[in-house]
Amino acid sequence: MGCICPKCKSNNVIPIMYGYPALEAMEEAEKGNLKLGGCMIYDIDGGGMADRYCKDCENEWCVDDFLVEDIAKVRFRYWSNWGCYNPESIKEDQWAFEVFPDGTIKYFAYPRASRRVLDKEIVHIEKDRVIDFYQNVIWLYRPWTEIIKCEVCDGCSYELTITYKDNRKKKIHGDLGGGTVDKTVTDFLCTIPKMKIRLEGEDDD
Ligand SMILES: [Zn+2]
Repeated sequence: MGCICPKCKSNNVIPIMYGYPALEAMEEAEKGNLKLGGCMIYDIDGGGMADRYCKDCENEWCVDDFLVEDIAKVRFRYWSNWGCYNPESIKEDQWAFEVFPDGTIKYFAYPRASRRVLDKEIVHIEKDRVIDFYQNVIWLYRPWTEIIKCEVCDGCSYELTITYKDNRKKKIHGDLGGGTVDKTVTDFLCTIPKMKIRLEGEDDD
């Protein structure tokens, strides 16, 4: 899905380009495929430079300025790195948790090579708990956050994705095992009993 305007939901959205434009960029701007932001590169009260422009409502925004209320979904997917790769396998090898602003939490289990859902569970929690979690997730994407990475060759790897309401995504990848990112997510999921079971397995001994 392409980028949509967070204000009016139009998909009549074009990028904003700064600096002195090349001839090609000027032509694109004349066709209406690009907005020229000018040569002045400035930074108003720490916010980012607007990088998208809505031709329908003239809204300008920057993905870096999005806050908790601009998140449409947070998805945490992880998969095992061990075992043989068998495209025919229907064994659970990939798992995903999706956290929505309305308090809906979805769990899915997939085989390694397809999106065929083998198992799923949906629970609902208080919205405030999701807001707190989103706050922590946004913090992980801040450039000044010190991220401790866990590196294991044969365990599980993860991908954490924020989807914003303009359809743009931010991703972080890593290995599962108590690093800053995966711990933030798993600590949250473990506060939800049904999801804790999914995460840790029922028959742990
Ligand atoms: Zn708009």
